[in-house]
Amino acid sequence: MAKRDYYDVLGVPRTATPDDIRSSYRRLARQHHPDMNKDNPKASEERFKELSEAYEVLADEEKRRRYDQAGFSAVETDFGPQGFTWQNFTHAQDLEDLLGNSAFFEQLFGSGMADSLFGATRTRRSGPANRGSDIEVTVRLPLADAVTGAEPTLEVPHTGRCEDCRGTGAKRGTALETCPECEGRGQLRRTQTRGYAQLISITECPMCHGAGRRIREKCPTCEGSGIIRHLRKLKVTIPPGMEDGAVLRLARQGVASGGIMIPGDLFVQVIFEPVEGLRREGRDAFTETRVPLSTAMFGGEVRVPTITSDALLKIPPSTQPESQFRMRGEGFPRFRGGDRGDLIVTLHVEVPRSLSSRQKDLLKEALASVPGPDGTKRSGLFGRRS
Ligand SMILES: [Zn+2]
Ligand SMILES: [Zn+2]
Repeated sequence: MAKRDYYDVLGVPRTATPDDIRSSYRRLARQHHPDMNKDNPKASEERFKELSEAYEVLADEEKRRRYDQAGFSAVETDFGPQGFTWQNFTHAQDLEDLLGNSAFFEQLFGSGMADSLFGATRTRRSGPANRGSDIEVTVRLPLADAVTGAEPTLEVPHTGRCEDCRGTGAKRGTALETCPECEGRGQLRRTQTRGYAQLISITECPMCHGAGRRIREKCPTCEGSGIIRHLRKLKVTIPPGMEDGAVLRLARQGVASGGIMIPGDLFVQVIFEPVEGLRREGRDAFTETRVPLSTAMFGGEVRVPTITSDALLKIPPSTQPESQFRMRGEGFPRFRGGDRGDLIVTLHVEVPRSLSSRQKDLLKEALASVPGPDGTKRSGLFGRRS
C-alpha cells in the first residue's frame, strides 16, 4: 500500500499551524478510536497508527521541516527498520486525556502496543499516587498445608473494566457524541474584559470533565462508569513452612481501576486450622498420647496423630510415664520447603482402673519384689497388711 502524505492523513493543509495539526489529530484519533468502531477494530487501529505516525512527524518542528523538504525518506530513519512503531511515538500525553480512561487504553495496556505507546506516560506517573489500593484477605487452611504448601483459589475484590461496554461507559451499540458544551475541546475558554485588560480563563469542561466526548446512553451494567467491582478468582501459591498468621505479599494483585495504572498489592494472611492436641513451636510440633500400662512395661507400638495424618511410634519396654519421644522429620519444614523439624510425643501411662481382686493380688505379688526408685524393695508400699 502506498504511503499517504502526512498532511492528507491528518486532513490539514501544508500551511497548517501546530495548533491546527494537534486539534485535527485529536479529532481524528477520537473518530478512529477502536472502541467506537466495533465492526472493524483492527482497521481502525491501523488507521489510528497511521494518524499517529503523521502526527509524530508533523508535530515536531524539525521533523516537519525535513519532511517538507524531502518527503518520507527524510524522516524514515527516525523510525525502526519496520517503519513507525508505537515505540517511536512520543506524544502519548496528547492522547492521555482522550484515551486515559477508555477501554482502548486499558485493553491495550499490557499488550506490546500499549506498553510502548504508554510506556513514557507510565514512567512519568509511577509515583505512589498512581497505585491502586492494597487488599488484604485472610485464608484459612488445614494445618497439613503448612507442611505441603497449598494453592487455594481466593475470591479477591477486583475493580476492572466493564466488559459489557469495554470500559467506555456507553451502552453497547451506541456511540459517543462530541460534547456540545465544549464542542469536543474538553476545555471552556472564557474571556472577560476588565477595564483595558482582557482576561482569558480556561477551565475544564464541567459537562464532559475534559474528555471532549459524552456518552449518549449509559451502559446499564456499570451505570456509565466503565468500571465494575466484582470478586475475582485468584489462585495463590502458599509455600510450605508458613507460620500461622503470617502474611504473604503478592505484588500488583490489588485494585487497579480506570486511570490507575499500577495495581496495589494483595496481602494474604494465612491462618491454619489448629489440630487438637498438636502444638507448634518453630519447626517442631508437640503432641501427647496415652499408652496402657502394659505397653509402657513390656513395649509395643502406639498410633500417634501427626501433622499430616498419623504414624506408629515404637515404645520400648520399661518406658517411664511422661517420657518424650522424638519423631524425626515429622515437624514443620523451613519456609519455602526444606528439612522438617521433629514431632515430640509425650507419653502418658494409663494405670488400669478396674482390676479384679485376683488380678490385684497377682500384681501385688509380682510387684512386691520389684526394686523401687532408690533400689530398695517396695515391700513397704505393697506389703501385706494383715
Ligand atoms: Zn465538554
Ligand atoms: Zn459498562
